[in-house]
Amino acid sequence: MQKVEKFISLAKPTVSDETIEEVVRVLKSGWMATGPITQKFESKLSEYFGGRTTMCFASGTAGLHAALIAIGVKEGDEVITTPFTFVATANVVAMLGAKPVFVDIDRTTFNIDHNKIEAACTSRTKAIMPVHYAGLPVDLDPIYDIANRKGLRVIEDAAHAVGSAYKGRRIGTFGDIQVFSFHPIKNMTSAEGGCVVLDSEAEQKLLSLQRFHGIDRSIWDRFSKNASNKRYDVVTPGFKSNMSDLQAAIGVHQLDEVEKMNARRRYLSDRYRASLSDLKDRFAPQAIPNYDFVHSGHLFSALLSSETERDDFMAFLKERSIGTIAYYTPLHLFSYYQKTFGYKEGDFPNAEYVGERVVCLPLSVDLQEDEQDYIMETIREFFKR
Ligand SMILES: *Cc1c(COP(=O)(O)O)cnc(C)c1O
Repeated sequence: MQKVEKFISLAKPTVSDETIEEVVRVLKSGWMATGPITQKFESKLSEYFGGRTTMCFASGTAGLHAALIAIGVKEGDEVITTPFTFVATANVVAMLGAKPVFVDIDRTTFNIDHNKIEAACTSRTKAIMPVHYAGLPVDLDPIYDIANRKGLRVIEDAAHAVGSAYKGRRIGTFGDIQVFSFHPIKNMTSAEGGCVVLDSEAEQKLLSLQRFHGIDRSIWDRFSKNASNKRYDVVTPGFKSNMSDLQAAIGVHQLDEVEKMNARRRYLSDRYRASLSDLKDRFAPQAIPNYDFVHSGHLFSALLSSETERDDFMAFLKERSIGTIAYYTPLHLFSYYQKTFGYKEGDFPNAEYVGERVVCLPLSVDLQEDEQDYIMETIREFFKR
C-alpha cells in the first residue's frame, strides 16, 4: 500500500485566491465591522434562498438563539428536538430556561423519527427543531403537518444543510425558519458565522435587536456618510452577535462556490459508498430515504458493529494518518442534561445505538482520489485483521 506522508484531516475548508483578495480589500478599506459587505452577503444569501429574508449572525448558534427569542420561547416552554446533534441545538433552548424535549432518531437515517414527535407534544410545546444531520434532509412534510395541526413553530437547524434539498426544493427556500452555520467545518464558511432565513417582518425586527445591543438602528446607518440621524434608542437588552465585513468577505465567495463544492463532496461520498458497499454488514453508511432529496455532502458517516470496534477503528485509522470523528454523543448522556432535565441512559435507544457506533470519514473538497483510495484500502485492512 502506498504511504501517505501527511495527515488526512476529517475536514478542511477550501479558500480561493479571490476570497483572500477580497479579505485584503476589506482590511484596507477601513471598515471591518458590519457594513456593506455583510449587506451584500445577506442579499446574495437571500437570492440563494429564493428571495426570502436572510440575516447574518456571528455564528449559527447565535442565529438559533436569536430565532428562539424572536418566536417567543421563554422559561417553562418546551422545544422538541433530536438528541443526536451538536450540543448548540439544545444549549440555546436551555439558555432561555426552556426544556429541550428529545425525540429519538431513526437508526438508519440518523434523523429525528417524526412518528414519535406527536407523543412528545404537551401544552408547553412551542416549537419543533429538526436537524438535517450530515446534510440529509429530515422528512419535513410530516413535521410541518404536526406543527400546523398543533400551532407550533418549526426552526430547522440547517447547520449541515447549505445546498440540501427536500422533494425538489432547496432547504431554506420554504418552510418556517431555517438557521445555517458557516463554521469552517461546514460546507461553506465565513471563518465563523451563520444566518437565519425567515419571513415575518416583526420577527426580523426582533432578530436585528437581539443581534446588536437592542439598538433600533444598525451602526452602519448611524456612521456611514449618508446617515441621517446619529441618535438611537435601546428598546431591549440585546446581544452582540453581528457578523463582521471581514467574515462576510469570505462568505460571499464561498457562496458563489458552494454548489460546485457540494458536487465534489457528493462525488466523494458516492465513491466511499460504492467502494465499501460489499462491507455494508460491518460498515453501514447513513441510509438513503425513499423520498426525493439532495444531500449536501457535509459528513459521510457510517455505523460499525459495536462501540469497541468503532474505537479500535478510529485508533487504527489515526495510526495510519487518517482523521475521523464520532459525531455525535447523544445530548441526553451529558451531565448537564441529565442533572437539569432528568434524562438518563436508556431514554433514547436509537440515538444511543448510533452514538456508540457512528464514525465520520474525511470529507472535504480538496480530498484527493488517491488519498480517498488509501482511506478505503486502510478500512479493508482493518476488517481483514
Ligand atoms: C455547527 C452546528 C451548530 C452551530 O453552528 P456554529 O456556527 O458553530 O455556532 C448548530 N447545530 C449543528 C447541528 C451544528 O453542526
